[in-house]
Amino acid sequence: MRRISIFGVTGSIGEQTVDLMRRQGGAAAFRTVALTGGRNVARLAELARELQAEIAVTAHDECLPDLRAALAGSGVEAAAGADALVEAADRPADWIMSAIVGAAGLAPGFRALRHGTTLALANKESLVTAGPLLLAEAARHGARILPVDSEHSAIFQALVGEDMAAVERIVLTASGGALRDWPLERLARATVAEALAHPNWAMGQRITIDSASMFNKALEVIETREYFGVAPEQIEVIVHPESIIHSMVGYRDGAIMAHLGAADMRHAIGYALNWPARAELPVARLDFATLGQLTFRPADEARYPALRLARAVMATRGLAGAAFNAAKEIALDHFIGGGLGFADMAGLVEETLAVLSGAGGLGNAPKKLEDVLQMDTAARAVASERVAGFAARRAG
Ligand code: NDP
Repeated sequence: MRRISIFGVTGSIGEQTVDLMRRQGGAAAFRTVALTGGRNVARLAELARELQAEIAVTAHDECLPDLRAALAGSGVEAAAGADALVEAADRPADWIMSAIVGAAGLAPGFRALRHGTTLALANKESLVTAGPLLLAEAARHGARILPVDSEHSAIFQALVGEDMAAVERIVLTASGGALRDWPLERLARATVAEALAHPNWAMGQRITIDSASMFNKALEVIETREYFGVAPEQIEVIVHPESIIHSMVGYRDGAIMAHLGAADMRHAIGYALNWPARAELPVARLDFATLGQLTFRPADEARYPALRLARAVMATRGLAGAAFNAAKEIALDHFIGGGLGFADMAGLVEETLAVLSGAGGLGNAPKKLEDVLQMDTAARAVASERVAGFAARRAG
């Protein structure tokens, strides 16, 4: 029986992974090793009972008593804290879903690679902050990283049987998010509720807002550069409001291989779960007779400054991805909390990168995970310190 662990099981990707496991037989078909969550311990315990997990881990120490109570009599072990998350990744598993949101997902996924496992990587922040380290660790231990982000799964599938040397360009599609049709001058006043109204995809709160600001696409551009090893100038972004084409690979003979499908993450998750086989998946089938048209528009960097910042991050490389992501997470926290305006998020990230660049070391290649985590902490401190300035400018 295949041994499976899911990090971030209580989230959008985690729940959809469980949905697919259930359809393929659930506890009778998979041996569930570790399930982890954050604050939603009731749901974590429910899923751990259903899948008969060995251990359930909450990221937060103060949630442990509730988790223990919810698991009483189930035989499932309970643990809490960042170290417990990493220890859970030490438990032997054949396939691990990395679906914690944010930089918190990096350390457990990194640890899992040490055991030569297959890591299904939804946590895009891992590649953005520590791509070269992660890939080197996977190579060292014979582990495999399978992309779960829908764009990267699409690219991965469009590359099957092809020679990377024949790749001319990679075209990432973007829905444009909830605010794509808003006039530019109105964007600065967008609220959290407005940014959350995604037209096509049902996702977690943070990634949905990141879609509206295109910080999500910016992370994906960097992720593409790291995972597929292409040069930044080979990566294009195009707004494709229908979200039917999930991304494309252009070859040097002019051919384009595109991946099409319904906007349903269970495709990419199911592809990774069953890879290298293809299993029947519960996703809607495209009906070309009723699909109408597929449209495209340029991804305007004035509307989406995050894309311009991603280019700068790729030019610097080293620790710039870690700084970029950390500053973005702080900006998002404060937008959700009401302390920053929508358009201030890019401003805060840009200012943080400028400060850290001035301090030196941003372009230094990390030698170990701690270097990345240190930059993450430093960038969070700089960004947090600068939030008040943005709030004051807004008030003034
Ligand atoms: P959600 O916010 O829905 O879920 C996040 C998961 O991480 C939850 O289980 C949450 O626990 C847990 N979590 C939150 N904070 C921490 C922390 N500090 N330490 C440990 N665990 C934590 O996110 P998504 O499922 O939307 O996204 C997960 C990852 O997948 C992200 O990196 C995202 O960019 C990526 N992704 C998501 C897609 C989607 O369609 N949702 C598409 C492509 C990529 P709890 O809820 O219990 O607090």
